[in-house]
Amino acid sequence: MERQQPLSGAGISTDSGIPDYRGPNGVWRQDPGAERLVTYGPYMADPEIRRRSWRMRLDGQALSAGPNVAHRAIAAYERTSGNPLRVITQNVDGLHQDAGVTARKVLELHGSARSVVCTSCHARSSMAEALDRVRAGDDDPACRTCGGILKSATVMFGQRLDPVVLGRAMSIAKATEVFVVVGSSLQVQPAASLAGIAVEHGARLVIVNAEPTPYDSVADEVVREPIGTALPALLDRLR
Ligand SMILES: [Zn+2]
Repeated sequence: MERQQPLSGAGISTDSGIPDYRGPNGVWRQDPGAERLVTYGPYMADPEIRRRSWRMRLDGQALSAGPNVAHRAIAAYERTSGNPLRVITQNVDGLHQDAGVTARKVLELHGSARSVVCTSCHARSSMAEALDRVRAGDDDPACRTCGGILKSATVMFGQRLDPVVLGRAMSIAKATEVFVVVGSSLQVQPAASLAGIAVEHGARLVIVNAEPTPYDSVADEVVREPIGTALPALLDRLR
């Protein structure tokens, strides 16, 4: 049985300077023009959308952001508590792994912005290399293997989540003793339903989030303090 298992959302990365893109009040949802850049249908159909999408990633700061005290607290918990840990995250920034959490213990529900994937042959390569090509003037870089359309290895709007990743996340939610939600509004599926599954299977639910969530009423503990101070203290208590 998993002893303890955080689900992290955008809120854990805002202290690293990465805005909430995907949430109900996120950057993309507030700007239909920007949302099209990360929506699968328009992206695949329109080279101009792809050029703008690559340019947005080049101008963005997600790749240069570093982990913050909350990411490091989770990594320290894994390293020193002796308790099994899995991190299920809605974030695509790779900061849990950068902080030192074992990569295979991080389930990225929405994929990773650190990689790109070919939509034809499914070959993966690095985002940094793709952005180097964009910077050098290749404004819609094609797959080097097959010439297919490349995209960020994230789950775009209009795409299904990876069923394998989702299945693993549900298994973890069913088996965990403590399910800690960090910086997620629990308004985007499947993150919200994972909290419900954990509770149905007897987990203690702890929510650390600045704003109310739909699951506060079934949580054993709700913490409204800033994540950077609340999470390290909470993880110390859970040891
Ligand atoms: Zn390809």
